[in-house]
Amino acid sequence: MQLKLRRILVTGGAGYIGSHAALALLEAGCDVVVLDNLCNSSKESLARVAHLGGRALNFVLGDVRDSDLLRSIFADKEIDAVLHFAGLKSVGESVGNPLAYYDNNVSGTLKLCEAMSDAGVRKLVFSSSATVYGDPHEMPVSEATPTGSLTNPYGRSKLIVEQFLQDLAISDDRWSIAALRYFNPVGAHSSGLIGEDPGGIPNNLLPYISQVAVGKLDFLSVFGGDYSTRDGTGVRDYIHVLDLVHGHLCALDALQNRAGFNIWNLGTGRGYSVLEIISAFERASGRSIPYKIVPRRQGDIKECWADTAKALAELKWVAVRGLDEMMIDAWRWQSLNPNGYHKAPSRTDSVK
Ligand code: NAD
Ligand code: UDP
Repeated sequence: MQLKLRRILVTGGAGYIGSHAALALLEAGCDVVVLDNLCNSSKESLARVAHLGGRALNFVLGDVRDSDLLRSIFADKEIDAVLHFAGLKSVGESVGNPLAYYDNNVSGTLKLCEAMSDAGVRKLVFSSSATVYGDPHEMPVSEATPTGSLTNPYGRSKLIVEQFLQDLAISDDRWSIAALRYFNPVGAHSSGLIGEDPGGIPNNLLPYISQVAVGKLDFLSVFGGDYSTRDGTGVRDYIHVLDLVHGHLCALDALQNRAGFNIWNLGTGRGYSVLEIISAFERASGRSIPYKIVPRRQGDIKECWADTAKALAELKWVAVRGLDEMMIDAWRWQSLNPNGYHKAPSRTDSVK
């Protein structure tokens, strides 16, 4: 896909989704500036992105809350649009440390928007989350589904940002903003060179299963076997990170001719249970995943999957990668990088 917007600032571009987005932008012929404070990532991801993309990107080490730094980036780099991934993302951590989440996710986005406004850059793609729907009563969840009563600061920080971005777009029709509500991003680039590298014990299902598969963790705790789902375990809409990232490029493309505040779900429209994910991962990896059913995790919902019609109609975007490809790619990344970016294999290993 070729984009008319050429120079893109990617905040949080060293992280899991941002690194895949930076690569997709390089491949689309864009010049990429990454701003990341590396609080949850490693510069090695960007070295690998540049290697895979066949050309350099511009990395700025710094914080999205640093207004002076933002101003200098916008003054120097002639940015056309911003993909804003930078933020904190652990639901559990946000309950214990809400101020850090409001500061990083809400204040960080405010500072970014102020600097964008001052620089006259008004095209923004924001990483939102299906978590803003709370515990929806009906499936699938469309963009018209009311946002829910949220039980944690992480989710609230995403909803607050969506709301002030909408106010901003109403106040000045030169803004073109997309809030992309991600369902459950999984998988990795097919090279196995970039992927998800959570610090410590993972909170999310796929990184946890992957670490059980390589023997770093003994077994998976399945949170709840008594939901009213087909096998009693929770159901989610898992989406390959490459499909998710393609949705960002489609959103950027759409923002060229579309003012205002836009919300699009990025999911596949299909839900899988935890037990189905375990089986699919076992098929992909050839490893068995020992698990125990334990009580439900506090705050978890029974099920959630996307209505994808709006993104299809307005962005001409649809996820094309199936569950097996998600699991194969997740496993390739984990098996080639059992310690994430910390113990790097040769950068040319396994490049197709
Ligand atoms: P990630 O932690 O891998 O990436 C976030 C990146 O932002 C990291 O590189 C981190 O170092 C950087 N960062 C954090 N705070 C910063 C700051 N103040 N200044 C500069 N850089 C900063 O997370 P991810 O999974 O790639 O998620 C990207 C975005 O998507 C986040 O906003 C997250 O909330 C959102 N999201 C993620 C998921 C998911 O399941 N991964 C689901 C829904 C939404
Ligand atoms: N899950 C689980 N064990 C884990 C992590 C997650 O059983 O160690 C379940 C969780 O209850 C949910 C699904 O896997 O049903 C996806 O959880 P994740 O944390 O990845 O995403 P989210 O809950 O934010 O959708």
